Amino acid sequence: MDLKKFIRDVPDFPKPGILFKDITPLLGNPQAFRFSIEQLARQFRGQSIDAIAAAEARGFLFAAPLALELDKPLVPLRKPGKLPYTTLAFNYDLEYGQAELQMHVDAIQPGAKVLLVDDVLATGGTMRAACRLVGRAGGQVAGCAFLMELSFLAGRESLAPVKCFSVLNY
Ligand code: AMP
Repeated sequence: MDLKKFIRDVPDFPKPGILFKDITPLLGNPQAFRFSIEQLARQFRGQSIDAIAAAEARGFLFAAPLALELDKPLVPLRKPGKLPYTTLAFNYDLEYGQAELQMHVDAIQPGAKVLLVDDVLATGGTMRAACRLVGRAGGQVAGCAFLMELSFLAGRESLAPVKCFSVLNY
């Protein structure tokens, strides 16, 4: 199945010069959505993974069905103020300003191998922060998985030595 048919390019969103990869046509087509999850699951089934983690919001859309498919615990990484229990945090720089990701202190076991998931790998900034947060919680990053990768932004290189897998390449 050609999943690229279900990714809509929206120019100049959210600001001029950005070509936004809109996944809503894929989400709106159960066959395409299921196929994308199967492609991710196929890559990681049978590998040594203890949990699947993702940063809000679009990462959840792929991490949740993948966690069910692989029968693994799901760990949400959230923006500040969203998680009700005691949290660990990691602050990171964005193009403009700062951001923070949080997770519950007991979300992963020490030494757990965690697969991180997101919809798009662009510069890799968000995923680097997610990797650091998992490390801070005592976990090991088993790999990063994406629906798509904008390879001209070299996010994969910025995440090395962590291994990345993406279903689609642009
Ligand atoms: P990154 O630069 O890799 O930290 O990207 C941050 C987040 O922004 C990713 O989780 C993507 O969901 C989103 N993102 C970045 N660039 C795009 C794009 N061109 N189209 C759609 N989403 C994007």
